[in-house]
Amino acid sequence: MIDLHTHSTASDGTDSPARLVEVAARAGIATLAITDHDTTSGWAEASDAAGRFGVGLVRGAEISAIARTTGWGTGVHLLAYLHDPAHPDLLVETERTRADRESRARRMVDLLAEDFPITWDDLLAQTKPGTTLGRPHLADALVAAGVVRDRDEAFATILRPGTKYYVGHYAPDAVAAVRAVRAAGGVPVFAHPGADARGRIVPDSTIEELAAAGLAGLEVDHRDHTPDTRRRLREVAESLDLLVTGSSDFHGAGKQNRIGENTTDPGVLEAIAAQGALEVLR
Ligand code: AMP
Ligand code: FE
Ligand code: FE
Ligand code: ZN
Repeated sequence: MIDLHTHSTASDGTDSPARLVEVAARAGIATLAITDHDTTSGWAEASDAAGRFGVGLVRGAEISAIARTTGWGTGVHLLAYLHDPAHPDLLVETERTRADRESRARRMVDLLAEDFPITWDDLLAQTKPGTTLGRPHLADALVAAGVVRDRDEAFATILRPGTKYYVGHYAPDAVAAVRAVRAAGGVPVFAHPGADARGRIVPDSTIEELAAAGLAGLEVDHRDHTPDTRRRLREVAESLDLLVTGSSDFHGAGKQNRIGENTTDPGVLEAIAAQGALEVLR
């Protein structure tokens, strides 16, 4: 089994990078990608654990971006695989995103504090230093304060876009982000492109523009895609000559997604490995 999209405590997963690899090994995953939001800070620990547990490791990240190709902005996530983590084109953008994610979390804590018993220290208590901050950590602080039962309830109510507590954050343009991933020697794959329950999705014309900029593939098999959406995305991928991946988007205990619930074909992994600047650790 090959699972190319998972999160650790370097972002909004609940397992440390080493524990994530251990969970993957126990679940029978042969090759795992660690893809924390806007950071590679989990790579060293995960690489070490991959050797110990005999799991193949694809070092990756999930890059926050905004597609502006339609006139309005639509948030999109790009999986970047096997890139040089120090390449400035990508690093400058992810560092800017991470810094603004912190300012945004501070603003959201201030707004939440008007109605709920939440402080910045409560948020920090839910995270490791250096973690890419996101709404899931605000959800954890709300759970700890007894305001909601779990992350799902927080996302369905208080943290939804459109509430008085929601604040957006900086993210690079999606076409520029695809180019930056390629410049860094990485392989860009569009994460959950048809996840319309989370918010707006992009039209096929945007996928075409991203493909022209160097997009390598579409994450078709994902929990947030209906069978119809998967069929449609497979056709788009075929017509644009894009790779098709499937992944769990595992976040540990923070989400329903089970590790290995969607998987990628070995031939597709080989194609990704052939395009990436780094080796798949085996
Ligand atoms: P943010 O990027 O900070 O706005 O938060 C979005 C992140 O929250 C996504 O990366 C998802 O992984 C996570 N997320 C979305 N919905 C849920 C949910 N119902 N439960 C837990 N995490 C969620
Ligand atoms: Fe996430
Ligand atoms: Fe995502
Ligand atoms: Zn993800």
